[in-house]
Amino acid sequence: MNVNLSEKIILRLAEEGDLPDSELLALIGSGEFDGLLFRLADLKRRERYGDEVFVRGLIEFSNYCRNDCYYCGIRRSNGSAERYRLTKEEIMECAASGYGLGYRTFVLQSGEDPYYTDDRICEIVAALRAAHPDCAITLSIGEKPKESYRAYFEAGANRYLLRHETADSGHYGKLHPASMSPDNRKRCLFDLKEIGYQVGAGFMVGTPGQTAENLVSDFRFMQELRPDMIGIGPFMTHSQTPFAGCPNGSFPLTLRLLAVTRLMFPYALIPATTALGTIHPLGREQGLKAGCNVVMPNLSPVRFRKKYELYDNKICTGEESAECRSCLEARVAAAGYRVVTDVGDVRRDPGAAGR
Ligand code: SAM
Repeated sequence: MNVNLSEKIILRLAEEGDLPDSELLALIGSGEFDGLLFRLADLKRRERYGDEVFVRGLIEFSNYCRNDCYYCGIRRSNGSAERYRLTKEEIMECAASGYGLGYRTFVLQSGEDPYYTDDRICEIVAALRAAHPDCAITLSIGEKPKESYRAYFEAGANRYLLRHETADSGHYGKLHPASMSPDNRKRCLFDLKEIGYQVGAGFMVGTPGQTAENLVSDFRFMQELRPDMIGIGPFMTHSQTPFAGCPNGSFPLTLRLLAVTRLMFPYALIPATTALGTIHPLGREQGLKAGCNVVMPNLSPVRFRKKYELYDNKICTGEESAECRSCLEARVAAAGYRVVTDVGDVRRDPGAAGR
């Protein structure tokens, strides 16, 4: 059934936090009332988070990857990627400089690099935990067995980011080689939750072949998972991947989906991503105004930044961490919000499953 989008539908989403598939499809397909949608999303975020924007210091510690995702610039088959990995000491230095800048959450992200065995990851996490007992430690290192996730948790990690990428198995199969499975990715997310991590899921907007129905499936999957963080950014082309030549995802559609996410998941931590800042010079500011409440400045050593090139023209590869901090702080302030540097825990309703 085709439904015409109306202001009433958007007001009901803001009120009830959900819509039937037909209305969600109409909303995804039309930007006619984006102004209203963004205003309501901003109101919703202010109800729960005021004008606060949380900061996560991102340490991209290896761009080696055993996987071959068709969209990703650090995929195994990209022979022109210059590979690097950081030592434990280098990672500790990045975190120390972030701590000095006031950051109280570190995100350790990498490709799926077999060099970092569970023992090595646990050693790094334990060292960070000992050095920074007041900080949240987030891992984003891909799909692992449940026992590995448990070992990292026991070593001191407490958050994990693993975008589900797409909840539709047909579309998943168009973005990944047959060796990767959507069921395993979802299994990982539920395992992480069960162990006790704060979990981040999410997806790219505008991957080749993605339909509005696929996006509805993403929302339905997230309603099941109730992730603490939801990372949504535009798909961005990388010239050395099978998707070279495919267009970038749509900026307005990404903003619209971020706003819908805020209205469906009022409690969520929603980052204004680097990809959003790459696709539009004021992308992160506009993301904040559409419901985002997290920014992720880069703490990786500048000499490696350009090598963690997930897509072409990625921003924030040239500045030192301190410059990144002041640039982001100014952008957040210009958008009408305020950077806060505590651990930035999720704010769910007491006793509720996530609304
Ligand atoms: N290996 C870990 C994993 O798979 O979760 C973490 C690193 S992975 C590079 C981090 C995220 O980058 C992915 O979840 C994906 O959504 C995003 N990404 C990769 N290639 C991208 C592209 N071309 N455009 C936008 N985002 C991309």
